[in-house]
Amino acid sequence: MKTQVSAPPLTDRELELLHSVPDGLFIGGQWRPAISGRTFDVEDPATGRILMSIADAGPDDALSALDAASSAQDSWARTAPRERSEILRAAFDGVLARSEDFALLMTLEMGKPLDQARGEAAYGAEFLRWFSEEAVRIAGRFSTAPDGHNRFLVQKRPVGPCLLITPWNFPLAMATRKVAPALAAGCTVVLKSANLTPLTAQLFTQVMQEAGVPAGVLNLIPTSTAGETTGPLLKDERLRKLSFTGSTTVGQRLLAASAERVLRTSMELGGNAPFIVFEDADIDAAVDGAMAAKMRNMGEICTAANRLIVHRGVVDEFSAKFSAKVAALVTARGTEPGVTMGPLIDGASLAKVHGLVTDAVDRGATVLTGGAPVQGPGYFYQPTVLAGLAPDSLILEEEIFGPVAPILTFSEEEEALRMANDSDYGLMAYVFTRDVNRSLRVAEGLETGMLALNAGNVANPAAPFGGVKLSGLGREGSHEGIEEYLYTQYVGVADPYAAG
Ligand code: NAP
Repeated sequence: MKTQVSAPPLTDRELELLHSVPDGLFIGGQWRPAISGRTFDVEDPATGRILMSIADAGPDDALSALDAASSAQDSWARTAPRERSEILRAAFDGVLARSEDFALLMTLEMGKPLDQARGEAAYGAEFLRWFSEEAVRIAGRFSTAPDGHNRFLVQKRPVGPCLLITPWNFPLAMATRKVAPALAAGCTVVLKSANLTPLTAQLFTQVMQEAGVPAGVLNLIPTSTAGETTGPLLKDERLRKLSFTGSTTVGQRLLAASAERVLRTSMELGGNAPFIVFEDADIDAAVDGAMAAKMRNMGEICTAANRLIVHRGVVDEFSAKFSAKVAALVTARGTEPGVTMGPLIDGASLAKVHGLVTDAVDRGATVLTGGAPVQGPGYFYQPTVLAGLAPDSLILEEEIFGPVAPILTFSEEEEALRMANDSDYGLMAYVFTRDVNRSLRVAEGLETGMLALNAGNVANPAAPFGGVKLSGLGREGSHEGIEEYLYTQYVGVADPYAAG
């Protein structure tokens, strides 16, 4: 295992990029400091170095942002769909034009290897293009009542001002996946980025401003006090929608708070994805799929494979090939050439991941590779593979959110399904098999919102992303993604042939 962690000074290119990132709140079309004058620091998780400080919104700033969103709502809803579409299309072009800046910024503040950050810049931009196309395809319907008299007009209307809360693991894509459909639908928004990775949203907001988003339509409130700052918005009658991506615990709390005003919500929450390899699978493809599903983004993905469930007949071959690839990952700061594994997001994550590994080992697991933190600076953890896990190991129940792969075994299809579904979560599953009938049976048997068949990553802006059970409510991307920001209005029309 190659590890080459060091803390070089920021390069001229990195400093120049950081100086170009706005450091204020963006409210009503203006960049400005927080009312309190407070700021908070943003750290590079690969070095522990402070990258820059930005304005720290408080409750009064959040209410100003909602004032701005609320004032802009009517005119944005009335803006021609084509115009909304063209602004989003210009934003897509704007993100692509600065994709190298976005990639480097994400690597600096979040830690992912630069190649993977480039992938996110492209993926994140695609939501802007996809929803620029959806903006002009919001359809209703017109029909005749079953008794032949009245007519039914059903139209889709924007829900109104939205609060969008995003996590730190995909700083661009989680923002575009919410902002693009909301704006396409005709809603104005207040975006609250994650305090560990707020810089990408700062740059994204600047690009949106340059693309022509009118004042008040997109407002940005980075903050170090998420609950205190956004709490008053959930009680405000002008807010009509909350879209949240993050942990199940916080999502549950926000759902409870949203009940008071019966606020419309979308919840993209945690996962505990099973990755099933049947005995007839192409093992090399399954190993590549497992690398993508488990080790991409340092395993800090809600859809990350959390439990590798492998048929007894192929587990030795799979484990040997997979462990060899995991051991060959190159761990270092994401800007270094050839890096395939960056740091975890912070010290708490590092401690949590190591705690789960230690618990599994204490209960009898064998470490096939890795198994320990990497000496600092930064929050690096060795990419790890575990086998022989006791069923009550905590790592099988909790979202790992790190580069650790526990391998379990099974003998029968029903057993694999039972193991896969033995989770409170239901976001993603992966299945490797060459048998078409089995694929369909397993798809119907799995309790997840998404299934990747013979693939390690199926996220696509044109496909519906989301989960069931404790993994959440609603879908993002695809046509379903814009529906989350629309409500159905029924207009009953009197019988046009009736007398009078
Ligand atoms: P988190 O702690 O739940 O935070 C998510 C967001 O919620 C952050 O912006 C956070 O702000 C904010 N927040 C925290 N407490 C809040 C409160 N009381 N009121 C309002 N906002 C609050 O999750 P995370 O650690 O950032 O992200 C990792 C989690 O996200 C994992 O569980 C992962 O599975 C999930 N995730 C799910 C999806 C999906 O699509 N299903 C995608 C990506 C990630 P601060 O950053 O300021 O604390």
